[in-house]
Amino acid sequence: SIPLTFFAGIGAASRRGILIKGANFLEGLSRVQTILWDKTGTLTSGAFAVSEILTEKGWSREAVLEYAALAEMHSSHPVAVAVREAYAGQLNEEAVTTYEEHSGLGVQARVNASLVVVGRNQLLAGKGIAIPEPRRRGSGTRLHVAIDGDYAGTLVITDTVRRDSAAAITRLREAGVREQHMLTGDAEATAWDVAQGLGLDQVHARLLPQDKVGVVERFLEKSRSGSRVVFVGDGLNDAPVLTRADIGVAMGGASGLDAAIEAADVVLMEATPSKMAEAIRLAKRTRRVVW
Ligand code: ADP
Ligand code: MG
Repeated sequence: SIPLTFFAGIGAASRRGILIKGANFLEGLSRVQTILWDKTGTLTSGAFAVSEILTEKGWSREAVLEYAALAEMHSSHPVAVAVREAYAGQLNEEAVTTYEEHSGLGVQARVNASLVVVGRNQLLAGKGIAIPEPRRRGSGTRLHVAIDGDYAGTLVITDTVRRDSAAAITRLREAGVREQHMLTGDAEATAWDVAQGLGLDQVHARLLPQDKVGVVERFLEKSRSGSRVVFVGDGLNDAPVLTRADIGVAMGGASGLDAAIEAADVVLMEATPSKMAEAIRLAKRTRRVVW
């Protein structure tokens, strides 16, 4: 039987905006030695803004932005929201006749008579669309835009690191967490920009949602018996990883939270990474009372 103290612990946690879906997860939180952090929307605010538009000959910045905004009209990904905000104009829904979103890669849509692809390198490469070398690298998320099979331009999108992220990572280390890593679909350069000064042990970049599951599995294999591996994400594209980790934690505030509540074992109602440290301290206190 589960000691009553665990129920008290779950109650105390919920009053602090930490929802724990069962006594086993509260107990598990007291044994966490590895935390894998998602980047976008978790360590960063996910409040992206378009900072630059690079175009190919024959294309204006306005045209590239308008095609991209229309293609992204139905996506709730933070980068899509940034593109629509940068465009600012009216978007005619009837202009978009087909639409597909490829999780962690980008979108493809038919806009007026043109086939528009917006997303990362790999998405365009998979369709045989070449991106000029100088457009590929650099910091900031790069959304490449292709129109009717030809590269047309790149939107450079920047995000900000949450003010609380560095403190959270420090506090968690103080609370006994041995390893903290960042997982991201973004390129190496963008990932390291964010990781600067956060005190993470390692950064894993260019991961598709299913690659993140693979990384979690590697950590599960090498984790000591009795210790736990946590994945913390904002919920967008994160459901498979949240499910695979010993403890999947979804952080609130972001657009993906509704979907994540289902997949997660723990939900942090506020988008504050240091709530994770609070959860672990509370779990350890609860365990000390029990034994
Ligand atoms: P992260 O791993 O950093 O949390 P995601 O897995 O959600 O990010 O997305 C990884 C990358 O895939 C984004 O940085 C972006 O380049 C691309 N991407 C995802 N969704 C879209 C979209 N709707 N439009 C364009 N690009 C997208
Ligand atoms: Mg994410």
